Amino acid sequence: MPDNSPATSNAAANNGDTAPVLAVENLVTRFDVPDGEVCAVNDVSFTIDEGETIGVVGESGSGKSQVFMSVMGLLASNGAANGRVRYRGQDILGLPPQRLNRIRGAKMSMIFQDPMTSLNPYLKISRQLNEVLVQHKGMSETEAMNRSVEMLDLVRIPEARRRITMYPHEFSGGMRQRVMIAMALLCQPDLLIADEPSTALDVTVQAQILDLMRDLKRELNTAIVMITHDLGVIAGLSDRVMVMYGGTVVEAGTVREIFYNPQHPYTEGLLKSMPRLDDSRRGVLPTIPGQPPNLQHLPAGCSFRPRCTYAFERCETEVPPLTRFGEDRAKACHLESL
Ligand code: SF4
Repeated sequence: MPDNSPATSNAAANNGDTAPVLAVENLVTRFDVPDGEVCAVNDVSFTIDEGETIGVVGESGSGKSQVFMSVMGLLASNGAANGRVRYRGQDILGLPPQRLNRIRGAKMSMIFQDPMTSLNPYLKISRQLNEVLVQHKGMSETEAMNRSVEMLDLVRIPEARRRITMYPHEFSGGMRQRVMIAMALLCQPDLLIADEPSTALDVTVQAQILDLMRDLKRELNTAIVMITHDLGVIAGLSDRVMVMYGGTVVEAGTVREIFYNPQHPYTEGLLKSMPRLDDSRRGVLPTIPGQPPNLQHLPAGCSFRPRCTYAFERCETEVPPLTRFGEDRAKACHLESL
């Protein structure tokens, strides 16, 4: 792995059984647009080990979702990814869809913010779940039905055997998201990628979904990627955090280090704008001034400079490289420390 790889575990070798579940090296993802090209992901590298949970945080347009759409081979038709992506040591970037399908769903699954994008409204839940097991695991209909009911139980759907025969619209938003999580876990994947899984839900249901993810992490030892714009979501769930801005990783470290000792002004801004239970600040929460950058016209030097209260001369001309420091930490900022 490159030296600046922010989420590299020292324990993980690069091949055989000890290979990380996922190793991404120098990933670059570009999209053709009518007036040129947009670089949505620019030289991103990281690894994820077995059973580990990584939080990927950033505002909309930071590239966080596109990293994992690239990994899963789910980019829009005008997008192309370059670099290296390995699942347990096997190169998977650019694999033909047929070969990728053997890994997607069975070994690596992804859930999205809106469960209706993945659930077919015209088919009963039983049909949608059972089909996955019949196709990927070669189960009979009866075996598949029993396993699907077990999974709905696991994600705490009450009366699973009765409700499995219902249609998606007969479930509430939170219950539909549980069904999606069950579907993603059916084949016991090594890696579950959750893209803002609780964002569209109300606060109580959001908390229930996050509790569920926490339980699943403990019970199944599945590696989890939690993609979110909200640092609060990953606080009690992630082992490590990667903060993204303008298509690059700007800070990475353990969840504790990121929360208690942020070293990039953007991370600091995200933390300050988080509501807290013990909040003594009255009125409006502070926000990071300005807007996320236009990826087609990134500012010269540091892409966070127009919004950074610490910016100095060097930031205007030099792009800060992602540099490792301390134990398995990295940041892309010219400041020695905050
Ligand atoms: Fe701010 Fe400069 Fe650090 Fe960029 S490099 S985050 S502008 S201090």
